[in-house]
Amino acid sequence: MKANLITQFESILLSKYILTDEDDKTPYLTDWRKRYTGKALAVLLPGSVTEVAAIVKICAAAGTAIIPQGGHTGFCGGATPDSSGEQIIINLKRMNQVREIDIANQTISLDAGCILQSIQEKAATQGFLFPLSLGAEGSCMIGGNLATNAGGTNVLRYGNTRDLCLGLEVVTAQGEIWNGMKGLRKDNTGYDLRDLFVGSEGTLGIITGAVMKLYPLPISQWTTLVATQDITSTITLLNLFQKRATSLLTGFEMMTEESLALNQKHFPHMANPLKGNPPYTILIELSDHESEEHVKLLLETILEEAFEAGLISDAVIASNLSQANSFWQMREHITLAQAEEGANLKHDITIPLSALDSFITETDTLIRAQFPGIRIINFGHLGDGNLHYNIAPPPGVDFKAFNLANEKPVHELVYSQVERCKGSISAEHGVGQLKLDGLRAHKGEVAHDLMKAIKKALDPQNILNPHKVISI
Ligand SMILES: Cc1cc2nc3c(=O)[nH]c(=O)nc-3n(C[C@H](O)[C@H](O)[C@H](O)COP(=O)(O)OP(=O)(O)OC[C@H]3O[C@@H](n4cnc5c(N)ncnc54)[C@H](O)[C@@H]3O)c2cc1C
Repeated sequence: MKANLITQFESILLSKYILTDEDDKTPYLTDWRKRYTGKALAVLLPGSVTEVAAIVKICAAAGTAIIPQGGHTGFCGGATPDSSGEQIIINLKRMNQVREIDIANQTISLDAGCILQSIQEKAATQGFLFPLSLGAEGSCMIGGNLATNAGGTNVLRYGNTRDLCLGLEVVTAQGEIWNGMKGLRKDNTGYDLRDLFVGSEGTLGIITGAVMKLYPLPISQWTTLVATQDITSTITLLNLFQKRATSLLTGFEMMTEESLALNQKHFPHMANPLKGNPPYTILIELSDHESEEHVKLLLETILEEAFEAGLISDAVIASNLSQANSFWQMREHITLAQAEEGANLKHDITIPLSALDSFITETDTLIRAQFPGIRIINFGHLGDGNLHYNIAPPPGVDFKAFNLANEKPVHELVYSQVERCKGSISAEHGVGQLKLDGLRAHKGEVAHDLMKAIKKALDPQNILNPHKVISI
């Protein structure tokens, strides 16, 4: 059976694109957080949509499960195979061409294996902004971004990956090719198939191409770090910026003192320029298409108002691009510092802004009382109500032992608070295998059953990324 399958793949791909040697497969078998390691019969590296379709047809005939994979930077183990050694990984990295930039339509058509950063760079050469931006942009791929409906730092102004997508090309579970590569901003022709595949984490189809929106490049960006003392004033500050800067507000990121302490421990060169380690450091970015002076003046005026209202106690405006980048680096390095420190218990959650204050105050109190000494590494895209509310053991306590003993009650506590506040247990990282168990309770019976019906209709053999997102 195994040999037979490989022989069939050899009729489609050169043997150098069929990885069966253990050493060759290893880089594709463990997720970024090193939480999951699986096995695979083979890792296939197709170079075109027709090759993907032909591979899927072979797998469908054999009933062999397929794990679609992009940059393998996802946080929920979605692109990692199980331990059976019978699944096939289809990694899209060879499909990395920009197909077209349509200047008049302000769209870019891409292969799914294009690295996010390369798309931003390509768009910039034509005077466009491709606004999706996240810490893994040097290695994640647009197919993975679409499959996880990734968020990142620009959602506040431009929306998440779903909002940036106009068209898709998808290989179905039967190996058919759906060509939906249209750059239309209006298309009310029945069910929205594109929206079905976006965020489906490889469980409904394999995304091989996409048409994405482009925006004019801003001519000026100003970035500032400000200190706030509590979450109430932080949210009032956000509302002030939303009111005064409206669509010029492109970033509003929150970092707590404990998050930045971790940064300083592992990346000492990343010192916070604000005085005295404030409880909350907020990174704010304004972008403008008018002039440098216009946005700088606006930023200074809002900051002045915030000082006068007692919302902020300190502020540093980046004086040049390199300092602005260093502010963003500080924010992005928290994820890396956590990885250096040890595997945190992570919660990627969204809370309505009106309930954020109550969520943080109550959850902090409850969790510190139940798990004395723990560290709350809380940071996130606050403008979207998105917190990365992560828990690390008390200093000196072994991470593995702590997580083993406390993972379930910590998750239960945090997620019950999320439910209380009518939030979501996955803001931007998806479900994968990590959150599979909690999904039914969180979505509710009806929504869960509808999801199951969709999965059964599109993939009745359950060969596309089985036991991720939903089990049928
Ligand atoms: C340092 C760091 C920072 C991050 N910051 C953010 C952030 O700010 N916001 C955010 O949302 N995420 C963030 N992430 C998570 C991750 O980068 C995103 O989820 C990203 O979108 C995953 O893309 P990928 O190409 O690596 O996908 P993978 O990890 O390879 O796959 C993710 C899921 O998508 C499926 N998939 C992949 N490609 C395809 C395809 N072509 N067709 C169908 N299914 C496919 C896989 O099966 C899997 O279920 C971060 C990760 C790291 C390491």
